Amino acid sequence: MSSEAAPFHPIYPVCPECSGQLRAGGMLLCRREDDGRRACRQIWACAGQHVWWRWSDRPADDLEHCPHPQLFGD
Ligand SMILES: [Zn+2]
Repeated sequence: MSSEAAPFHPIYPVCPECSGQLRAGGMLLCRREDDGRRACRQIWACAGQHVWWRWSDRPADDLEHCPHPQLFGD
């Protein structure tokens, strides 16, 4: 079924604070103030418990500090 799967290496971001590798956590649906649309934020955290998020449809944006670190992993 997946014999054609290319070796795909997703680029995981690194923590802007400690340069540790980030792990993807939950997604949070919220209304984006820029464009008034509902969009998902992807939550990321490093081993040092720094928690960040970013709009999942804007992967080129910088990570922002997540003010709700308890959301990670839920
Ligand atoms: Zn970190």
